[in-house]
Amino acid sequence: MELNLLTLEETATLRNLLSHATHIVICAHKSPDGDAIGSSLAWMHYLKQTGKTDVRVCMPDATPDFLHWLPGHNSVIRYDRHPREVEKAFREADLVCCLDFNQNSRVDAMQEVLESSKAARLLIDHHLEPDTGNALTISHPEMSSTSEIVFRLISQLDGYRDMTKPCAACIYCGMMTDTGGFTYNSSRPEIFYIIGQLLAKGVDKDEIYNRVFHNYSPNALRLRAHIILNKMKVIEELHASYYTVTKEEMTQFHFIKGDMEGLVNVPQQIKGLKLSISLREDTEKPSLVLVSLRSCNGFHCQPMAARFFNGGGHADASGGKLHCTIEEAEQIAIRAILYYKDELQ
Ligand code: 5GP
Ligand code: MN
Repeated sequence: MELNLLTLEETATLRNLLSHATHIVICAHKSPDGDAIGSSLAWMHYLKQTGKTDVRVCMPDATPDFLHWLPGHNSVIRYDRHPREVEKAFREADLVCCLDFNQNSRVDAMQEVLESSKAARLLIDHHLEPDTGNALTISHPEMSSTSEIVFRLISQLDGYRDMTKPCAACIYCGMMTDTGGFTYNSSRPEIFYIIGQLLAKGVDKDEIYNRVFHNYSPNALRLRAHIILNKMKVIEELHASYYTVTKEEMTQFHFIKGDMEGLVNVPQQIKGLKLSISLREDTEKPSLVLVSLRSCNGFHCQPMAARFFNGGGHADASGGKLHCTIEEAEQIAIRAILYYKDELQ
C-alpha cells in the first residue's frame, strides 16, 4: 500500500535536515491532546532510534492525566513549569520540529521562545492553513492525525523495521484520539493498514483504548452528565447545539484537566445534528472562554471558528477562544448559529 507522503525533493530535504541536526527540540500546541503528545513522543523515539542523543520534547503546559502513561512522557519539559530549561533548549537547538499545530500562536506563552530560536524549523501537521517560513513544511490536512503523518514519514525514511513498541504505541494513541476511536476521519484503507503495522509491533490497542477513554473519576462523569442533562441547548430546526460550562460548575465537580475532553462530540449523537459548540470558562484567566466546535452531516465548522471565535482547526473539528464573559459567549454562539442558518437548516 502506498504510504509515501513526500516527493523525492522533500525526502532529500528532510534527510538533510535530520542528518545535520544534533540538538533537536520537538514542540506541540498548548493543552496537548493525544495526537500532539503522541506524535511528538513518537518522533522523539524515532530520532533517538536513529542515533540522536539530544532530543527534547518541550510543551507549553500540562498533558491530561489519561495520557501520562505514554512511553517517554516523563521526559517532557513543560514551559509553564520550567521556562528557563525550555528557553535553553530552544536557544541551543539546531532543529525545531513543530508538530500538530499550524500557527505559532497555538503554543501560547511559548510563542516568543519558539520565534526567537535560530534553529531550522520543520513543521509536521494536519491542520488547515499552516504558517510558512519553515525549512520544510509537511502539512497534510487530509490525514487523520499528525501521528499518522509521523508513521508515514518514518516508513518513508526506512525506519519501520527498527520501530520500537513504545514508538508504535505513541502513534497508535495519536491516531486513535484524533479519530474518536476511529469513528470519524478514518475511512481511508491506509489507516487500517497502518494500524495493522502498529499491531505487528506488539501494541495492545484495547489496553490503550481503556487507558485513554475509560479513565474518568466519578466526579468527571457526573460533571459531563450534568452538562448534557442541564446545560445542553438544542436548536432543533437548525440542527445545532451548544452548552456553557462555568468555573463554578467545574469547582463543584472537582474538575481536573481532561475531564471535559470529547464532551463536545456527545451532542452529535442526536439524529441529524450538524453542529455542536462547547463554551467553557478558563479555569485560570478571568473573562476567557474556551470554544470547541464539531460538525457533521455536511456542515463544516472551521469557517465559523475563524469568523466568530478567533480560531480555526479542521473542517469538522475546530476551536477558538473569546475574551468575554460566558453570557456574552453564549450570545456570540447564538449569533454564529443564526449567521449560518441557511446551511444548518
Ligand atoms: P478542541 O475542540 O479539541 O480543543 O480543538 C479541536 C481542533 O480545533 C484542534 O485540533 C485545533 O485544530 C483547533 N483549535 C482549537 N483551539 C484553537 C485555537 O485557539 N485556534 C485555532 N486556530 N485552532 C484551534
Ligand atoms: Mn491532531
